[in-house]
Amino acid sequence: MLSPENNIISLHKIAKEKRKDLAKIGIKNVTDLLWHFPFRYDDLSEIKDVSALEANVLSTIRVKILNLKTIRSWKRKISITEVLASDSQGQIKAIWFGQKFISQILKIGDEIFLSGKPTWQNNLWNFSNPSYDKVKTINLHSARLVPIYHTSGSLTQKQLRFLISLGLKFAHTQDDPLPVEILNTEKFPWLYESLKNIHFPNDATDLKLATERLKFQELFYLQCKYQLAKQDYTQQDAWPMNIQEKTLQTIIKNLPFKLSNDQNTVLKEILLDLEKDQPMNRLVEGDVGSGKTIVAILAAINAIHQKEKLQVAIMAPTEILAWQHFINIKKLLPKNYTNKIGFLSKDSHYLGDQSFDKKEIIENIQNGSIQIIIGTHSLIQDKINFKKLSLVVIDEQHRFGVKQRQALKQKNKNKVPHLLSLTATPIPRTLALTLYGDLDISIIKEKPQGRIAPKTLLVPEKKRVGAYQFLREKIKAKQQIFVVCPLIEENDTLGFKSVQAEYKKLNENIFPDLEIGLLHGKLKNVEKESLMRRFQNNEFPILVSTSVIEVGVDIPNATVILIESAERFGLSQLHQFRGRVGRNSLPSWCLLFTSQADKQNTARLKALTQSNNGFELAELDLQLRGSGEIFGTKQTGLMQLKIATLNDTELIKKAQMWAKKIIFEEKYLSKQPLQKLLAELKTEMHLE
Ligand code: ADP
Ligand code: MG
Repeated sequence: MLSPENNIISLHKIAKEKRKDLAKIGIKNVTDLLWHFPFRYDDLSEIKDVSALEANVLSTIRVKILNLKTIRSWKRKISITEVLASDSQGQIKAIWFGQKFISQILKIGDEIFLSGKPTWQNNLWNFSNPSYDKVKTINLHSARLVPIYHTSGSLTQKQLRFLISLGLKFAHTQDDPLPVEILNTEKFPWLYESLKNIHFPNDATDLKLATERLKFQELFYLQCKYQLAKQDYTQQDAWPMNIQEKTLQTIIKNLPFKLSNDQNTVLKEILLDLEKDQPMNRLVEGDVGSGKTIVAILAAINAIHQKEKLQVAIMAPTEILAWQHFINIKKLLPKNYTNKIGFLSKDSHYLGDQSFDKKEIIENIQNGSIQIIIGTHSLIQDKINFKKLSLVVIDEQHRFGVKQRQALKQKNKNKVPHLLSLTATPIPRTLALTLYGDLDISIIKEKPQGRIAPKTLLVPEKKRVGAYQFLREKIKAKQQIFVVCPLIEENDTLGFKSVQAEYKKLNENIFPDLEIGLLHGKLKNVEKESLMRRFQNNEFPILVSTSVIEVGVDIPNATVILIESAERFGLSQLHQFRGRVGRNSLPSWCLLFTSQADKQNTARLKALTQSNNGFELAELDLQLRGSGEIFGTKQTGLMQLKIATLNDTELIKKAQMWAKKIIFEEKYLSKQPLQKLLAELKTEMHLE
């Protein structure tokens, strides 16, 4: 028997013929087909009398076929089917070109629905290639809310609708995967009903109910996975750490600034987690420049001062950032710790202040003499084993997957490290909590005192010269400048600014007397490092860069960031760029230039000039450009969703509530079908 998991080709010969086109839109089996949802519906549900038709207005009529003939046009070598039909009010003519089979489907005397845009010719309303359905069969293409799908190749809307209507028969015989308790309590329609109604809804109400249920199902599965992950790791052991009050206080006292209240609160939350022998999984959220790093570093210092000589790994998404953390940590720890701090990336390896052989560094990690190792994500991918890895800090990452956690566990034999992730992705707290169901969340809201928010200006092209003059003044005052461009090389078709062309222009024409640095992702790591180090030491005043400087880079002396082709970036990303300046008590500026901004883009950029709040901007981005913008290209559970979105806050909450109930409450756990579902989700989770 054909099951929903079977290959689509056994469904119908059309599916077999069009299997390549179907595969292109992700349809391989019947389940895929049924979860290929319409992106819109054409409302052809109103049936008009023939007498009420208007020229070129999409309309549906119900008529009886009076006459039907198919002729072959010799000139155009195609068949032409002509139908004369009428309702009680009048007659119409319908013509189909090149659709020979129609004469086998329609017969004189049949009642049919026709949808199309009529024209008045020879005293009759004429329909050319209209959609039709026989009145007797369920109508798929006319006289209803007609689903419109993304399709591919020669696969037509009609064929898709037809295949889906066949596929629905299998959904009919399937058990509903959602527990009855949920269906009853939430008054959700059952799966078959929902699938039928999302494709072929009777009316808007049915459609809404179906959509809610299907969204819920996706979110519920996702939340179940999160809760299962949480259950998984809370059962494992981690190193409990005593709070090293004295050591930490000494370091905090010697900082050039006072920790903000939020920083203190978050630090305390982390230290309390670390005291437990259950692994922590905490995400620290804080707008750019809110000072997340120092909090994480203090947690790391707490770990290495335990009498067991525990180890900490700190990972950052870019080499530049990792290096910055390395320098900062070395500064904070007493001299006798220098040899316990390592740096490891693809092609640079340091122990304390000296460049070292990679092998030797790895050995020192393995024997436990390096206690803090800083690097890029390759730290967990490479074949590195730790002696007592007790804490992993991940900078600028939204979440840390089950897979990486397992990878880390394997490095450690019997204990699992505590996890601390830092992110500047500003998601409102309630949303974050529900979205990352398995994480605990800390938020740093307030910025350090004495900061003046950068002033953001949308600069018209005619003021460019003035802007360069302004940069010159800042440079005279020994301040530094970032210039950001979207592309590395010039690309004519897009017309966006490239770093190379911009660098050349600034270097040769605008500031020939000044040294300008050029930073982009294609540079070798050593080149990037030395460039950043020299910029940090204020050895040159202007750095032209691609978006590689987006996250984390901390150059407090930089006071102006000039962004070219700003319309190319999302608001959250621009806000991240802007966060590169305003990192000390001097006033700072963010200058936005555009190359081809339309009205909508200009309005978007205006929003940036008016708000300096990452959370607000993230929500705006969400409304204007969807959740992809906030998460960039990064993989998150949400990216795999077909129908639910980040905006479905209420449903996300509901899904989390139920997932917790189902996984942690005895009375549900005893139920067989549920156990099966959870086992399946668990397998999926481990495979992802
Ligand atoms: P982010 O949260 O974006 O990672 P950082 O941790 O890089 O921010 O901190 C930004 C800058 O603010 C750094 O130069 C850091 O030394 C400084 N800083 C951190 N906390 C404070 C504070 N409480 N007061 C003043 N400056 C601070
Ligand atoms: Mg940071």
